[in-house]
Amino acid sequence: MAGTTHLFIPGPTNIPENVRQSMNLAMEDMRAPDFPEFTLPLFEDLKKVFSLTDGRVFLFPSSGTGAWEAAITNVLSPGDRVLISRFGQFSHLWVDMCERLGLDVDVIDVPWGEGVPVREYAKRLAADTEGKIKAVFACHNETATGVCSDIAEIRAVLDEAYHPALLFVDGVSSVASVDFRMDEWGVDLAVSGSQKGFMLPAGLGILAVSQKALDASKFSQYRKCYFDFADMIATNDQGYFPYTPATQLLRGLRTSLDTLFAEGLGNVYARHNHIAEGVRQAVQGWGLELCAADPKWYSDTVSAICVPDGFDSANVVKTAYHRYQLSLGVGLSKVAGKVFRIGHLGSTNEVMVLAAIAGAEMAMRDVGIPIEAGSGVAAAQEFYRLNNRIELARAS
Ligand SMILES: *Cc1c(COP(=O)(O)O)cnc(C)c1O
Repeated sequence: MAGTTHLFIPGPTNIPENVRQSMNLAMEDMRAPDFPEFTLPLFEDLKKVFSLTDGRVFLFPSSGTGAWEAAITNVLSPGDRVLISRFGQFSHLWVDMCERLGLDVDVIDVPWGEGVPVREYAKRLAADTEGKIKAVFACHNETATGVCSDIAEIRAVLDEAYHPALLFVDGVSSVASVDFRMDEWGVDLAVSGSQKGFMLPAGLGILAVSQKALDASKFSQYRKCYFDFADMIATNDQGYFPYTPATQLLRGLRTSLDTLFAEGLGNVYARHNHIAEGVRQAVQGWGLELCAADPKWYSDTVSAICVPDGFDSANVVKTAYHRYQLSLGVGLSKVAGKVFRIGHLGSTNEVMVLAAIAGAEMAMRDVGIPIEAGSGVAAAQEFYRLNNRIELARAS
């Protein structure tokens, strides 16, 4: 096949060439005397992406799901009451994990397209005068629906209720793409993975943990071994790991962090917002709706776009793939057939995303969705042209 297949799913994301090259190196000794000179600064620099000063990060050889499990089994105990909400496939899977791990799960179901029900959290926290709720869970960016919730609001309702529950946040599709402030928001456990904002292959479960959560971990009654914080801490403190680390991925992470810092995290977040806004303009140009029910929930990393009634979004995705070498995200679970997704996180820019918009537009027309040829592309082009990110940055 000539050219590249365009990858516009919300993870794995496109890997920048310098990151990919940096992983092409000979195998190395993970017990080498100078290995800590590489790993210790890596841990410290990774904390910067979470805006975490105290506490620590863990890098498990797993996907993001492994980091979810590590978060739960290291600081909670079986039977602990937790408050969580479900409004998409990823928040659903975290609920499912909580249930399967034997937590006492208070789940609030919310229509898909909405975000964390903060007022409902406030009510339940206020009603919990005995402090039974040990942890509050929030999916920061629901990748299935393109919904981003405000974590600061959740911290505010915890504080209003003077509630001591730990705050767990799924940041798999937000961290390193969207502003994330662990210290300021009082997030205790933030879960991420390597294959989204960090622009790496899948394989690193990334977990950032506050000092409060580390203290709580001493009282956890869960059995664990592979994911045990204590084993990680004992070896990580010396710059090593309790088992063979994914050294290539760690080298890639080093380059990924260097690349993010060279652009500046603030610029990275602004770029994601800007690219996303162009996609939203395209959706408007098509006369279609986002799955996200309110602008306050619009995600800067993924847009889930509703196809009109009577059409199957899976056909759009298949057509884009077979006819145009373009991978778009399918609708998952409850929104299967109803939405397709454009992932616009990681190493992307305007013209790259225009390719995805153009391909989606062609595929939609191919399956008979009545949109005007060029309408989405034109809307995005004009937005990018009139608000040029590079010139605006130069002028300021
Ligand atoms: C991708 C994703 C996950 C799952 O991560 P894996 O690396 O596939 O295990 C969890 N939560 C969110 C919000 C995601 O986008």
